[in-house]
Amino acid sequence: MEYTYIGNRGILFTFNELNKEPYYCITNVYVIVGKKNYFVCDTYLGKYYINKIKEFLESKYGKKNYIVFNSHSHWDHIWGNSEFKDNLIVSHEKCREFIKLYGEQEIKKNPDFIRDEVELILPNITFQKEISFEEEGLIFFYSPGHSEDSSSCYDIIDNTLFVGDNVDDPIPSSMCFNNLSIYLDTLKKYLELDVDRVIQSHGPEIDNNVIRENALYIRNLIDGKKIIFNESEVERKHQENIDFLLSI
Ligand SMILES: [Zn+2]
Repeated sequence: MEYTYIGNRGILFTFNELNKEPYYCITNVYVIVGKKNYFVCDTYLGKYYINKIKEFLESKYGKKNYIVFNSHSHWDHIWGNSEFKDNLIVSHEKCREFIKLYGEQEIKKNPDFIRDEVELILPNITFQKEISFEEEGLIFFYSPGHSEDSSSCYDIIDNTLFVGDNVDDPIPSSMCFNNLSIYLDTLKKYLELDVDRVIQSHGPEIDNNVIRENALYIRNLIDGKKIIFNESEVERKHQENIDFLLSI
């Protein structure tokens, strides 16, 4: 586990377990150190990893209450929920529904990434549009794009945006929601916030330029433009997106 301080009160914890076949990506858990609460954005692969984060936080900042946010229902973002059974776990209502529907299937599909036994714990408070923690300067809001159940965290105090899997550098990847105009609306909304920094789930801190590039890519897909990338890895991600869009 590596960690990076972000702005005045964010810490990005980065893990490498998915950095091998077939995913080849790092994965982040983003924590905002609030006045009374630690806000944990996504819970990665289980309690072993979450305990490392908790140890780090408590040794540095002492005991605080934990509030968890699930950006969406995908397995690599929620398996550590079991370490927060007695805490608030916040998500969009569709995220809860999708964990219920597909959570067990996803465990079966990814046995190589199970370290402790996975116990699926559902979010226990859901929202439709958004939910605010006024005293802590945080808003969690619905932002469908990468998936239909995706939502984001906006830190008003630090002007930082956590986007989960909705933004990737240089193009969106592993798309699993085919309503591209809704995806584009989400990216436009991100740009309207005019944040100082953007935190994604599978890469380092980025800025609004990457959101702009992602939006242009989605625009081009909507317009049916022929898109070719010189870099083979990016072309591969693009082909995966095309295959997904053609499969439904
Ligand atoms: Zn995902």
